[in-house]
Amino acid sequence: MPEIVKTIKDMRANLVTWRSANETIALVPTMGALHEGHLSLVKAARAIADRTVVSIYINPTQFAPGEDLSRYPRDEAGDLAKLANVGADLVWMPSNEDMYPEGFSTEIKVAGPAEPLEGICRPIHFNGVATVVCKLLSAVSPDTAIFGEKDFQQLTVIRRMVRDLNIPVDIIGAPTVREADGLALSSRNAYLSEDEREIAPALFRAISDVANRVLTVEAAKNALLAAGFTKIDYLEIRDSDTLGPVTTKKKGKSRILAAAWLGKTRLIDNVPA
Ligand code: AMP
Repeated sequence: MPEIVKTIKDMRANLVTWRSANETIALVPTMGALHEGHLSLVKAARAIADRTVVSIYINPTQFAPGEDLSRYPRDEAGDLAKLANVGADLVWMPSNEDMYPEGFSTEIKVAGPAEPLEGICRPIHFNGVATVVCKLLSAVSPDTAIFGEKDFQQLTVIRRMVRDLNIPVDIIGAPTVREADGLALSSRNAYLSEDEREIAPALFRAISDVANRVLTVEAAKNALLAAGFTKIDYLEIRDSDTLGPVTTKKKGKSRILAAAWLGKTRLIDNVPA
């Protein structure tokens, strides 16, 4: 079983022992309700570092009023069983009081890659993400931190923050884990009705068809609406480093990113172009 800690003090006590034995540490930040996508990050962490720390924290500051903070899925017992199974060493479940003590006054705002796409649809989201990830990195001081390509813009924003602030950590991006029908695993898939779940893989199909030059961006949007998606926030081809307009046709240098709604559920996905 992994050690389970709540406070930064208890978490650090474990780290001190490992550090004094010259062991390397990888951090996998999550919001819980863990699935195989999260567990793939933990496995990648175990392959890279001697010790793996998983944080489980539903960060309130990255949700705008009216978003799904109050109904976000929680499954502490299930999460701990899964983490024991994949061999995490330490699970850190911070409290809001520890993360945002009375009088908390600091916010990290990344411009550049945080501005388009999600930055337009969810204007406060990346400020919350950057601030909490900076806090997690500063509390754990890992050698490596692993993030999923599933949230490609988040990964890009974190890379930029770490570079800009000289945070001494290697950021590793891990590939998206999908269901057999292509739907990217996501804690939010639990919100989908049976009918919506059948429609959901159309998102991956549409962006893959754009990547394979089978559909134009406009045709892919129409295909999504025809499949039953109710609203498309964006579906765009972007430079994979800056998330700005594509400047080179070099393979692997661009990314197709999309966010679309199925009723009350917002799904995001992306593929290399
Ligand atoms: P979350 O709990 O949604 O904040 O996600 C925690 C981490 O897991 C983030 O780095 C996500 O990008 C990553 N992640 C979520 N879904 C997947 C997936 N299907 N495949 C790989 N990584 C994922």
